[in-house]
Amino acid sequence: MLCEMCGQDVPATNAVRVESSVLQLCPNCSKFGVAVAPPVVPAGSAPQPARGGGMRVTPRAARSVAERDLYTEMPDMELAPDWGRRIRIAREALHWTPEELGKRLNEKKSVVLKLESGSFRPPDGTIRSVERLLHIRLRADPEPTA
Ligand SMILES: [Zn+2]
Repeated sequence: MLCEMCGQDVPATNAVRVESSVLQLCPNCSKFGVAVAPPVVPAGSAPQPARGGGMRVTPRAARSVAERDLYTEMPDMELAPDWGRRIRIAREALHWTPEELGKRLNEKKSVVLKLESGSFRPPDGTIRSVERLLHIRLRADPEPTA
């Protein structure tokens, strides 16, 4: 075998790291680098896909579909015609930025802006959260006068 450093033909070369590359070097040149240990692979411990255990069902997807069905089966709350405007007015009264309201709702700022423009009708759970956070009512039923 040829040494990759001096080109000498030797019976055996060693894998040696020289700077960033690994070279096959003769014993003489090996001292210029750091010997590379051969990768240790213990017999029988190589990762193998377990046989028979491949039928793993992921129930998460199925469950979320079921939850969504549950949601759609519930009649949507009827909202006041100006519910988006109510959100914006109440938010501005609290001096919250759309980002801030979004954070409290666990939603993105863009979602808040869509809510306020009335272009996105959120799930009833979000409606309730907004009502609770901003102390307003978004539902169409008349607000009981205090
Ligand atoms: Zn050499």
